[in-house]
Amino acid sequence: MTKLGRHLLSIDDLDRASIERILDRAESFDEVSGREIKKVPVLRGRTIVNLFYESSTRTSSSFELAAKRLSADVVSVRSQGSSVDKGESLKDTVQTLSAYDPAAIVIRSPHAGAAGLVAGWTPAAVINAGDGKHEHPTQALLDVFTLRRRLGSLDDACIWIVGDVLHSRVARSNILAFTRMGATVTVCGPPTLIPRDIEALGCEATTTLDCLEEADVVYVLRLQQERMRDSFVPSLREYAARYQITSARLRPGQLLMHPGPVNRGVELSGEAIDSAQALIGAQVRAGVAVRMAVLYELLVGVPILAAAA
Ligand code: ASP
Repeated sequence: MTKLGRHLLSIDDLDRASIERILDRAESFDEVSGREIKKVPVLRGRTIVNLFYESSTRTSSSFELAAKRLSADVVSVRSQGSSVDKGESLKDTVQTLSAYDPAAIVIRSPHAGAAGLVAGWTPAAVINAGDGKHEHPTQALLDVFTLRRRLGSLDDACIWIVGDVLHSRVARSNILAFTRMGATVTVCGPPTLIPRDIEALGCEATTTLDCLEEADVVYVLRLQQERMRDSFVPSLREYAARYQITSARLRPGQLLMHPGPVNRGVELSGEAIDSAQALIGAQVRAGVAVRMAVLYELLVGVPILAAAA
């Protein structure tokens, strides 16, 4: 039985069968993205609201493209330049936009739990596009899609997630998704940037790159300085010296991933980013098809748990 409710707030909303269903659907939508006319009429006449309260390039553009390729009407609101600047609360903004009767609201917020709150304020389906340090489920899905294409399956793959795990919603969603798909996950970073209870998510933790060689996939995270109020690393130079992933630190055959945006020369060296081992471009490309699939499954598919959600 698959588990897919009315909203996508966390990877915990999905069991392995529903992740696979979304990825299979994404494969068929990826074919649409290869056509000259990149549109299918499945959401014609329906409205999608994108509400972004935090900076975004990849996630906002790919959600917008995904909705447009499904023929939906799309309204994109960014906090800057909207009435949020005038002090309107998230609840009032959501209730205002709900007056347009959207089928779905895609929300990014700097606050953990914001997407869950929005789900209680609107009849629309809610998709979490990143809530503070909590989760970023569609990033995890597009990463699994990218790896499944490359490896065939994630079963028994050894994945290392390296960098600022503490501030990363991507780390949390990806640990859940990778392990659910059969991979083993090790997180690695300075002790100050590894949350104390991270193993509870089903991964191992280490503070050195000594055993990096065992990884099939090295997934690098950005140092999220905008979320750091204290000093978590002595200096960027020292961080780079100990944890930067360079071509010299990768063994041949290892795959390299990063959710973007990359701080070139901090967590990743320029040559590693541009190397043939990097899947960073493929991750971005996967974003559109995977988000089309998420919108489709929530709005058109038959959610088995819809009644309970
Ligand atoms: N783009 C990802 C996110 O929104 C990762 C990052 O910002 O470092 O969480």
